[in-house]
Amino acid sequence: MEARSKVVIVPCRTYNKENVYRAVKAGVDALGGIGAFIRHEEKVLVKPNYLTAADADKAVTTHPAVIEAVLRLVSEYGCADISCGDSPGHGKGEIVHARLGMDEIMEKYGVRPAEMNEEVLTDFPEGMIAKRFYFAKEITEADAIINVCKMKTHALERITGAVKNVYGFICGVRKAAGHVSYPNPMAFARMLADIHRATDIRLNIMDGIVAMEGNGPGSGDPTPMNVLLFSADPVALDATYCRLVHLEPWSVPTCGQGQIMGIGTYEEDKIDLLLAEPAESGAEAEDGGEITESAAPKLTPVNTETLVSRFGNPNFNVDRRATSSGGKWGFRIGLLNRFTKRPYIDKKACVRCGVCVAHCPVPDKAVNFTKGKDKPPVYDYSRCIRCYCCQEMCPQHAIHVKGI
Ligand code: SF4
Ligand code: SF4
Repeated sequence: MEARSKVVIVPCRTYNKENVYRAVKAGVDALGGIGAFIRHEEKVLVKPNYLTAADADKAVTTHPAVIEAVLRLVSEYGCADISCGDSPGHGKGEIVHARLGMDEIMEKYGVRPAEMNEEVLTDFPEGMIAKRFYFAKEITEADAIINVCKMKTHALERITGAVKNVYGFICGVRKAAGHVSYPNPMAFARMLADIHRATDIRLNIMDGIVAMEGNGPGSGDPTPMNVLLFSADPVALDATYCRLVHLEPWSVPTCGQGQIMGIGTYEEDKIDLLLAEPAESGAEAEDGGEITESAAPKLTPVNTETLVSRFGNPNFNVDRRATSSGGKWGFRIGLLNRFTKRPYIDKKACVRCGVCVAHCPVPDKAVNFTKGKDKPPVYDYSRCIRCYCCQEMCPQHAIHVKGI
């Protein structure tokens, strides 16, 4: 890791494909071009955020226009072996591909779909907290990974961005077990940092054109932030997102623990911010139409104050309270039960599908149909480890996380 980290910010107000491609190219070029991150002969995996199958405008997934722009850039560079995919938290990646129209896009650029269904037990003796992972096979086969994350809120880690997005490297069925092994935000963030240390992520790109605020990462509200962020440093990228939404990066476990574990920095005075504008100011098509003129990106070093005043949103709905760090298991559960936010089911919205029960990683389930399947599931908070998998996976957005 170089002494200073660089984050490039590119304004982009629409998901018009050509606009997004220009913006992505401008962002990557400002970091030295795609050739600074990958070589022609390498197997390159583009890894979006596919939490679950949802329409692109719901902001649950990385938008397909952003994924396409990255695939196009890598393809035009001349990489012969490109794949794209993620292991969703619920369902299969191919269903998300289909929902987002990615099959046609991948075919257009000669990209292989990465199904991420087959797991490979991967030892990582250098791990600080995790010594082995059940990675999807495609993760172990890739020479280089481009992490194309989504700007969203997250009940456990308060945000999901570049650091958190790597949890999709773990095959779907194994994700719940990880929440049991690393049951608090700090431990979970450290495990995520070990995934970064164990894999070769060359570049992180964040889709913040339309972000998700509120009850994220699956049930929140889309809100325009009008930016794409780029960095080789996942922590610096997430920290910049934090600053845009008036959230202290040190209070976010994936930033704090990510820095401690050496995968990047959240410190403002160690991050160079560069604004890259893909066309003359104001030339972006306001109505989503294509930009026709060709203009070299304008590069401007900026400070945080300028960036936040131009792109920040102080009203972005995200949890800004301090985070508890936890201790030994039993003691920790006791503290969690007293001080940590709880998941609640909105009984009117619940359709009793049982997805929350199926995804609860606690043995014997901390949420279950204890009053029968004709009623919504009921929580046993004394056994709940507050992983919020139930909230993350509820397809009806019926679960909310609140303080007590
Ligand atoms: S996943 Fe949501 S809708 Fe399904 S049973 Fe649980 S709370 Fe109800
Ligand atoms: S009830 Fe929900 S938050 Fe609690 S352990 Fe189960 S999945 Fe996690």
